[in-house]
Amino acid sequence: MFSKVLIANRGEIALRVLRACKELGIQTVAVHSTADQDAMHVRLADESVCIGPPPSRDSYLNIHQIVAACEITGADAVHPGYGFLSENAKFADILDAHGITFIGPTADHIRIMGDKITAKKTAEELGIPVVPGSEGEITTDEDAARIAKEIGFPVIIKATAGGGGRGMKVANNEEELSIALSTARSEAGAAFGNEAVYIEKYLGRPRHIEIQVLGDGEGNAVHLGERDCSLQRRHQKVWEEANSPSLNENQRAEIGEICANAMRKLKYRGAGTVEFLYEDGKFYFIEMNTRLQVEHPVTEAITGIDLVNEQIRVASGAGLSVTQDDIRFHGHAIECRINAEDPNTFVPSPGTITHYHTPGGLGVRVDSGVYQGYKIPPYYDSLIGKLIVHGRTRVECMMRLRRALDEFVVDGINTTIPLFRELLANPDIANGDYDIHWLEKFLAAKAAK
Ligand code: ADP
Repeated sequence: MFSKVLIANRGEIALRVLRACKELGIQTVAVHSTADQDAMHVRLADESVCIGPPPSRDSYLNIHQIVAACEITGADAVHPGYGFLSENAKFADILDAHGITFIGPTADHIRIMGDKITAKKTAEELGIPVVPGSEGEITTDEDAARIAKEIGFPVIIKATAGGGGRGMKVANNEEELSIALSTARSEAGAAFGNEAVYIEKYLGRPRHIEIQVLGDGEGNAVHLGERDCSLQRRHQKVWEEANSPSLNENQRAEIGEICANAMRKLKYRGAGTVEFLYEDGKFYFIEMNTRLQVEHPVTEAITGIDLVNEQIRVASGAGLSVTQDDIRFHGHAIECRINAEDPNTFVPSPGTITHYHTPGGLGVRVDSGVYQGYKIPPYYDSLIGKLIVHGRTRVECMMRLRRALDEFVVDGINTTIPLFRELLANPDIANGDYDIHWLEKFLAAKAAK
């Protein structure tokens, strides 16, 4: 096992990793920008190193500073959290060259899944169902038109280097197609420095369902069921739940086993998420994230398995603590992402938290890096915490969530807490009847009132 882990992240996820390390008796090193010297992850870590000024590119994305911090403190491993350097293959390579363990998959697996065309090809070879579309990059308008005719309009043009919902364009007919192609290419070039795009069938009303996997890097792998993350705004997840209200036990076992098997063939190491769109009973792979996800706690709630603990175990060579037969799904869990934003306009709301009280009681978990008197800096994303609620049934979970939201007090800034109260009062949400466009439509209708 490692003796000292450096956590190359901030906010709630830095704390989440720190807690797993503490339980394993591992010393922790926090890194922080000058804007984060009073942050909770810095206060709770055994040691901390300032790695630069507020902008992420100078601090949390600064590989040299982070490697130097490892050397100064003698850390033998790095946990990257999510975002920042978590899917940066070069970072994994550099740590390797310094004899420091990257708590995550191999750099090769990060590279494969980081390029969407390669990821899709690999998924298909591994037996994962994919969205019908071009075999690889689309270079000419003629090829695009031919494939669009084959698969049928509407189609979506996506950037192979895409991420964060950027570099995607929908085309409903041939005229729209050539415009969509050229705008998608130039946007992808500007945003990612790579103009390569591909084409796939556009699904009209899918759900977003993702499968959590864990592998030991030796060919053993398990799945931990699915999360339904269909409630999204601008392709950003807002509310996640497990299990999905739309899957039954057999469907879960079937798609889960397909993903676990793929990870066994790949000899995948660590935690990963295979993301699908799900429509009319069929799954369509869209991408794989080779890291811990923001929404991992809903899986932890229904399985009782600590995903960060498993990540650390496999990275240290201790293997997984569970086999597929050990994994059971209990009850239902929902996560609400609490952002420091106006609940109507979503304008960020940095500033000082003047009063702070978190909910508690049976089945309630709050993962957050903030506290009363904490000043939220304006430089980073607006996620300030996550409320995760577990119940024996979806109905009990929603009742408990309503109660927990009522207890949650964050004064001095705006948060998205009121939005979740509105969602809980909506019959579609109560029935689990929503797709990936539902929230955008709900917000547009509300704004029009
Ligand atoms: P990113 O890496 O930018 O998040 P994804 O490939 O994961 O890109 O897609 C993000 C979102 O875009 C999906 O959750 C879905 O809402 C939408 N999307 C992607 N592909 C399709 C498709 N073929 N049909 C319909 N919507 C899609």
